[in-house]
Amino acid sequence: MKWIAIGNIEVGRIVESDGPFMSVFDFFPDATMEAIEPHRSWLTPNALTSGTHMLNMPIQSYVVKTPTSTILIDSCVGNHKTVDWYPAWHNKSDTQYFDSFKKLGLHPDQIDVVLCTHLHVDHSGWNTQLVDERWVPTFQNAKYILSRTECKNAEMLSAKYGDPTFNENVLPIIEAGQAMLVDDDYEIDEAVRLEPTPGHTPGHCAIHLSNRGHNAVVTGDLIHSPIQCQFPEWNFKFDSDKELAAKTRLGFLKKYSDCNTQVLTCHFPQPSTGRIITSKDAFHFEYT
Ligand SMILES: [Zn+2]
Repeated sequence: MKWIAIGNIEVGRIVESDGPFMSVFDFFPDATMEAIEPHRSWLTPNALTSGTHMLNMPIQSYVVKTPTSTILIDSCVGNHKTVDWYPAWHNKSDTQYFDSFKKLGLHPDQIDVVLCTHLHVDHSGWNTQLVDERWVPTFQNAKYILSRTECKNAEMLSAKYGDPTFNENVLPIIEAGQAMLVDDDYEIDEAVRLEPTPGHTPGHCAIHLSNRGHNAVVTGDLIHSPIQCQFPEWNFKFDSDKELAAKTRLGFLKKYSDCNTQVLTCHFPQPSTGRIITSKDAFHFEYT
């Protein structure tokens, strides 16, 4: 895989898994065959499998090397996690994630900062790993910078619904003294800052990178598939505040269309990165 240059910043991708994830009609309850059909030619085979209407979605992290630090953005599903609602993610045990680190010439101990766009299981899993039956931080030398709003929400989901994500992926980081809870517009340094993009979750943040007049933004899950460029009003069935999620997504598409900002998505098919361009009365994604 190649590094992407954003001025003096280098960005690499670490793919944990890839392939058909869920039916487009299950994923986006507003999707219909009539709406999708005119767009099938550019959605198939990468974004949508032919014939079966399954969305292809990678699960991946971005590694960002700024002049001063090495940052991991989102940490995929991880191993041995409790994910009752999606068997392929439950109690995983694979080595591909760290093999990909090696291919980038990196060791996990070289990560200085971990950022999570939000704390769903596919974005916070490798925050921790199971060692001697205890969850411990995977990135021993990293400061984990997390949205205070997002942590509170994950803690609430744990208390109210028994969601295991807070206890498995967040609490061990806090207990190890490696967490730093921040506002949703926190600036990590002059090149990297959080950008509040609530809706998918209450404390969801995109991550903005800039250096020498070059810009990029990591979307997290404010958008999941290129088809939402055409239909920004289509919400993922698990967006926590659907009205706000749609408003945030449309605002994001308007803000970052027809400009030089590289858009680094989490779940668009590989290579997952590109630019948003306006197209008739909607938007289109041009991969780069
Ligand atoms: Zn996700």
